Amino acid sequence: MQALAERLGEVLVGRTLEQAEPLGFSALKTVVPSPDAFVGATVAAVTRTGKYLVLELGPVGRILVHLSQAGRVDVEEPPKRTRAKGSVVRLVFSGGVAILVREFGHERKAAWWVLGPGDDGPLERLGPEPDSEEFAALVLHGDDRRRVHTILRDQRTVSGVGRGYADDALWHAQLSPYATLASLDTEARSRLLDAVRSVMAEGVTRERTRSGGLSQAKLGEHFEIHNHAGLPCPRCGETLRRISYDSHEVVYCPQCQTGGKILADRRMSRLIK
Ligand SMILES: [Zn+2]
Repeated sequence: MQALAERLGEVLVGRTLEQAEPLGFSALKTVVPSPDAFVGATVAAVTRTGKYLVLELGPVGRILVHLSQAGRVDVEEPPKRTRAKGSVVRLVFSGGVAILVREFGHERKAAWWVLGPGDDGPLERLGPEPDSEEFAALVLHGDDRRRVHTILRDQRTVSGVGRGYADDALWHAQLSPYATLASLDTEARSRLLDAVRSVMAEGVTRERTRSGGLSQAKLGEHFEIHNHAGLPCPRCGETLRRISYDSHEVVYCPQCQTGGKILADRRMSRLIK
């Protein structure tokens, strides 16, 4: 695949897309943007990510091709008009060059994607699930120097936790929202792993029982401390505090998590000034 990407790069870089002609039934896996929206865009590079060929088309986005097991790419100079057996898509470029994606397999189908800017499509890498061994190894032995709260919110590091469950998990583990993973000792790491897993398991259970028609507004109400700043801590009764960020807020209990210390809240200090 790497060699193919390089070969296609030599042929295609600098040329503009003139036509994208879908030839295979359901081989195009995206609906928006339309392939026609990329007509006129210039190929900046042809790269490979995993088993995907990536045609970088500058600011408009990318076209991905997955050849599956028995796919191949033919370079046509000049472009043909035939529709050979197993044809998936023909991309016609300026200067009289086209590539035809074909497949000869029966089971696993070659496919292609048209992705706008910022859309990773099938390339989006989601981290391991919280109940996986991979996540356990990361928490128990990892040397990630970011804050635990940041790590838990990062979908590429662990999938599906998010800010709400991150608040609850840190509260369960009785760790400061400012704690970094690298700073935690073995016992704290083990507590953290248990906390994340139990919070997520309870969350899933609650989501299942909640399936009958509750409004989206009720969604946040099942958290133990997330969204509960100003209310008493369910464990010790201390008032829960918040740290405000532009995109979210972090809730914690000063008694249970920071040894009584109240962390600076940027929004609060701005208001005081
Ligand atoms: Zn508390």
